[in-house]
Amino acid sequence: MGKLKKISGPVVVADGMTGSKINELVRIGKQRLIGEIIALKGDEASIQVYEETSGLRPDEKVESTGLPLSVELGPGLLSSVFDGTQRPLEKIRSEAGDFITRGIEVPSLDRKAVWKFEAKVKNGDTVHEGHILGTVKEKNIEHRIMVPAGVSGKVSGITSGNYKVTDVICSIGKTDVTMLQKWPVRTPRKSESKKDIEPPLITGKRIFDSLFPMAKGGSACIPGPFGSGKTVTQTDLAKYSDADIIVYIGCGERGNEMSEVLSEFPHLKDPLTGKPLMDRTILVANTSNMPVAAREASIYTGITLAEYYRDMGYAVALMADSTSRWAEALREISGRMEEMPGEEGYPAYLARKLAEFYERAGRVVCLGSKGKREGSISVIGAISPAGGDTSEPVSQGTFRITKVFWALDSSLSRRRHYPAINWLKSYSLYSDVLAPWFAKNVAEDYDAQRIEAMALLTKEAELQNIVQLIGPDALPDRERMVLEVTKMIREDFLQQNSYDEVDAYTSLRKQYLMLKTMLHFSHMATRALDAEVPLSKIVSSPAKVLISKLKGVPEKEIEHKVKEALASIDATLSS
Ligand code: ADP
Ligand code: MG
Repeated sequence: MGKLKKISGPVVVADGMTGSKINELVRIGKQRLIGEIIALKGDEASIQVYEETSGLRPDEKVESTGLPLSVELGPGLLSSVFDGTQRPLEKIRSEAGDFITRGIEVPSLDRKAVWKFEAKVKNGDTVHEGHILGTVKEKNIEHRIMVPAGVSGKVSGITSGNYKVTDVICSIGKTDVTMLQKWPVRTPRKSESKKDIEPPLITGKRIFDSLFPMAKGGSACIPGPFGSGKTVTQTDLAKYSDADIIVYIGCGERGNEMSEVLSEFPHLKDPLTGKPLMDRTILVANTSNMPVAAREASIYTGITLAEYYRDMGYAVALMADSTSRWAEALREISGRMEEMPGEEGYPAYLARKLAEFYERAGRVVCLGSKGKREGSISVIGAISPAGGDTSEPVSQGTFRITKVFWALDSSLSRRRHYPAINWLKSYSLYSDVLAPWFAKNVAEDYDAQRIEAMALLTKEAELQNIVQLIGPDALPDRERMVLEVTKMIREDFLQQNSYDEVDAYTSLRKQYLMLKTMLHFSHMATRALDAEVPLSKIVSSPAKVLISKLKGVPEKEIEHKVKEALASIDATLSS
């Protein structure tokens, strides 16, 4: 047992800690505050404390627990709201009031809830780590109870029936197995193997799916200054993307932002099922009054929960908003430990930590499935560099790792062009690998349309430079026509209103048809110009009105309305 020597905000130093290990949990002082050993020098340990440390005194005792910071895994995670160390916020609030009593021990998973367990293996079967023992219905998800890490052997005593998470459901060899299992958050969960990227993560947002697509199992970042739309975008991704499970880690930017998320999420409907969105969501929330160490831990807690559902064979999408707040927590703790500061005061290991986090994204063959079960984690992290200056270490460290870059732009949000994603700065390194999937599942020329639309938008930027110098009248008709088409692409395709019921989500098929119609307009207008139809006649084509209305057309009418628009283009632009 150690003794407190020094207290510095969220970091304390204890001596007499011989035998302790790095990342081990400790209990500190009379109130038994929870902390984690983050550095060891001889018998002296630096400990980050997950609770407010005011009132702690030197010489108070520090007890080792021998356990690393772990999460509880099992039925009951979905629709929960946890803090960064997986304490259930609602339950704590109902037991202890608004201010979390320090040292309070409330289990992460409900111990009283009863689950109907259906066995999927028989007594006498030999099972290994990751093998599915049975299932439980959790909300609308089949929750698969897996053989825990390090356990294998013959199953005995298994029967279907009603169990609490701590009841023994069977024995494997000599080990009693419960539905409740634990996993240390800083260690990635294992899988059988990694798989290549194949299907996209469908977001329903046209600028993402059509121009900068994200992959299931991919990693993406959303850099953007304050107020540019990071939280709206992340919330939209949680609502509309075609993931089975959502893990949303909120590190509140503004004082009340996290409470907005906390009050908003429970009322959100899953647009795909009409059921509450929380049914397939786990929230990990850091409000600004929570200790920084809990914020530091939150991304590990979140991604471990994501890995658990991945291992069951689900597509999980994890949003972290904003990772800059996480990095600031890391910086504060590092500063308290008097480590040598790197760039802008961040510790030298910031880049490594960012890489370790994003590398837990991926598409895998699940452990114990013999190639039969696959799961994925798609990670989307928001970054909020101060003043929007992305030369800082968190942005730079993230850009080097993530494969999709969705750049929010304050000049677009100021013009109320939403989502305020800058199409010239954004990119997706998955475009090429996803192209065959789009060709097979949407349309042969899906990727060709992306390339053509991007070429037009790039051309527009060039032309706009000229226009600024010499005015639009100096441009030849051909190029003024390009500006007409790109204006159409920007306003009628890229702009998408999150608050409009129809416009908020666009299926891949509708996205394809919309873009196809606009590109057809472009082709026909070019031909008409060649045939010396005056530009004024082209730009006043009534087809433009029909095209501009497509975004508001419900999915089931889109084929018909696109046909009308195409016919109108042909009728008015044929020479
Ligand atoms: P950030 O998280 O980057 O600080 P927010 O996501 O909170 O910014 O967005 C700020 C405001 O901008 C929102 O409250 C909303 O009014 C507007 N906004 C952002 N994105 C959209 C969008 N896609 N559609 C409509 N309004 C948006
Ligand atoms: Mg925000």
